[in-house]
Amino acid sequence: MSDDLYQRYLDAATDYREHRTACTHCSLYRRCPEGQQRWTTFEQCQAAHIKRVHTQRNPR
Ligand SMILES: [Zn+2]
Repeated sequence: MSDDLYQRYLDAATDYREHRTACTHCSLYRRCPEGQQRWTTFEQCQAAHIKRVHTQRNPR
């Protein structure tokens, strides 16, 4: 089984975390445009991953 989605989710999380660590403008409470972009990507991957997990647990 391919797990690209989960890998992308992890990569996006790492991407965002690395940016936040390096970026002086980003914090828990506010993000610069690049940080926001990475956060949005992470959220989308997370939502897709969670949705897939739910679908697998509750097949219709
Ligand atoms: Zn930033």
